[in-house]
Amino acid sequence: MTSDILLETRGVTQRFGGLVANSDVSISIRRGEILGLIGPNGAGKSTLFAAISGARVPTSGSILFEGVDITRMPAAERCRLGIARTFQVPRSFDSMSVAENVMIGAFVRNANATRARAAALEVLDYVGLDGRADATAGQLTPPEKRRLEVARAIATEPKLLLLDEVLTGLTPSEARLGMDLVRKVRARGITVVMVEHVMEIVMQLVDRAIVLNLGKLLAEGSPADIVRNEDVITAYLGD
Ligand code: ADP
Ligand code: MG
Repeated sequence: MTSDILLETRGVTQRFGGLVANSDVSISIRRGEILGLIGPNGAGKSTLFAAISGARVPTSGSILFEGVDITRMPAAERCRLGIARTFQVPRSFDSMSVAENVMIGAFVRNANATRARAAALEVLDYVGLDGRADATAGQLTPPEKRRLEVARAIATEPKLLLLDEVLTGLTPSEARLGMDLVRKVRARGITVVMVEHVMEIVMQLVDRAIVLNLGKLLAEGSPADIVRNEDVITAYLGD
């Protein structure tokens, strides 16, 4: 039987000199959920993503994906296992076409360029960028660039997609379109973890939320529980 826990962090600690960016963080990500990872700026959200995606090996603690210890596994290998991420600052190759940017992701599953291009075009259609396939990435608007980031990640056919602030800075109508896309991604069978510091957005979208503050796990629960949690309110409003 497959476990309903897709990924687990156990006591993950990340130190940067004297600063503890993640302090003994243990969380579980459930298969098929949209999980919000929230917390004020500097809470350690991106640092935890780095540990999960393989951008950085934590100082201590471990990470299990489908029961396999991936704590020290290189990022490219995790990508093949099914972990994909977007970056807080989009990383597109601006002089390449939109389709070519997505092919970078599709090559993880397709060695053949014709097949990788076909897969890329299918994903572009799915994220609503089909009309922009032959534009250069540099010609995209900022919200389109966010979509491109998501498209490249989806093209790797992940089981787990980590979204780092993909809705931040969008207008309300763009954010609604972005939320629709996240729901579509989950409907494709992909588990989604999204980092946002804007609570209002996340709470409309997620099944469950985990709150970090000052590197520590502060609270976890349903959106309704989280917004009523005294510790969470204090962390956001300051004291
Ligand atoms: P969040 O994404 O929740 O805003 P981060 O994970 O980016 O927070 O950062 C958590 C803390 O770790 C912050 O105090 C930040 O300045 C610090 N930090 C993050 N990355 C580094 C790094 N590479 N070197 C030193 N300090 C870092
Ligand atoms: Mg961050």
